[in-house]
Amino acid sequence: MQNRESTTCCIAGGGPAGVMLGYLLARAGVNVVVLEKHKDFFRDFRGDTIHPSTLELMDELGLLDEILKVPHQEVRSVGGLFGDFAFTAADFSHLPVKCRFIALMPQWDFLNFLSEHGKRYKTFDLRTEHEAVGLLEEGVVKGVRVKTPEGEKEITADLVVGCDGRHSTIRDAGGFEVIDIGAPVDVLWFRVSRKADDPYQALGRIDYGQMLILINRGDYFQAGLIIRKGAFDSVKAARLPAFRDSLVAGAPFLKERVHEIQDWEQVKLLSVQINRLRKWFRAGLLCIGDAAHAMSPAGGVGINLAIQDAVAAANILAQALREKCVTDALLAQVQERREFPVRVIQSVQAKAHNASLNFLGKPRKAVAPWQMRAFMKIPGLKRIMARGIGLGIRPEHVYSPEEKSAVRDTM
Ligand SMILES: Cc1cc2nc3c(=O)[nH]c(=O)nc-3n(C[C@H](O)[C@H](O)[C@H](O)COP(=O)(O)OP(=O)(O)OC[C@H]3O[C@@H](n4cnc5c(N)ncnc54)[C@H](O)[C@@H]3O)c2cc1C
Repeated sequence: MQNRESTTCCIAGGGPAGVMLGYLLARAGVNVVVLEKHKDFFRDFRGDTIHPSTLELMDELGLLDEILKVPHQEVRSVGGLFGDFAFTAADFSHLPVKCRFIALMPQWDFLNFLSEHGKRYKTFDLRTEHEAVGLLEEGVVKGVRVKTPEGEKEITADLVVGCDGRHSTIRDAGGFEVIDIGAPVDVLWFRVSRKADDPYQALGRIDYGQMLILINRGDYFQAGLIIRKGAFDSVKAARLPAFRDSLVAGAPFLKERVHEIQDWEQVKLLSVQINRLRKWFRAGLLCIGDAAHAMSPAGGVGINLAIQDAVAAANILAQALREKCVTDALLAQVQERREFPVRVIQSVQAKAHNASLNFLGKPRKAVAPWQMRAFMKIPGLKRIMARGIGLGIRPEHVYSPEEKSAVRDTM
């Protein structure tokens, strides 16, 4: 077939998992094609958190100084307000890493940064406007069918990696069994302008039946309002003035600015899911990141997990890909390595969602329960939480080597 080409590893999805894996494999001398269905990375409503563990990886890759030149905000602790009770849930200042903070950086800047550095390698090939629409199978997976602006083509590969997020086409095409943990909440995502003297809480504000997350993006807040799953229609039925009033009840300092929300078009519903595949691989195919385990925004750790999956996959598979001897046993090792952190975090996220149902939609002044006040006083808690959020469970390090022959002579 004319529209058929071949590579060693074809990665479907240019999010944090896909771009990181593409970068690491290309750096290790493996021919990689990364398919991204959009024209660029410039999309709103992505998480914008770069965790201390990811910054540590950047240091291991020699990219730390450069990434820190990209405009960002540094969050050294995360906390919130529960009614009038102000709390700090995690304090990163004691972490045993170089960067003891979460960098808030638009995800498109991070992905542009990594993919620009990927271009240093002859083996890195990022294709935007290339959508994986199915798998090529001959008993085992042999490649991907791809929709491009020029028409459909086929890319054969020794290994296909599904990194195409929580609505993964590759996961569906692979026929994987999904364990659905469920999530009783959704997020309404919108922007409100920000003033320099605004109170700033990276985690959120819980009051009057609401949980509002405000992410500092410089001159505006990326705001997320947690609602009960399926409640968006009733929020819309109550009309925009009621929606604005409810935001002011939870965050009074937004009073002069909520009128910026003039249309429901400005408010995007993001449906939250928590699930994971029972088996993350088949012969010739592996899923990682949200494609293998959809994460909720709770705790802001999904990007971290996706990147850690990519590092583990590159560590385990780079050499075998170069030598064209990837086995099911190696693919199983990736799942074994990463499944434990995913299970732990998903169970914490599910518990957090269930706890949120106790106050969501109850329009009265929130009073922090004594259990929460007592919990927040446990010595060392902020440090433990900082490790969980900032480094994750079982943090990964880059062991896949840089293959000098893959470096381009000129850029
Ligand atoms: C509302 C919300 C807010 C969140 N906020 C945070 C946060 O602040 N911090 C955090 O750590 N986590 C957050 N998360 C979780 C986080 O977004 C995910 O866990 C993380 O993005 C997973 O990374 P990924 O690379 O696996 O997938 P994704 O980030 O979903 O990337 C998948 C990529 O694949 C592309 N793609 C999809 N289908 C195809 C296809 N068929 N062919 C080619 N390309 C395709 C997509 O365009 C996308 O670029 C949030 C989640 C939600 C729902």
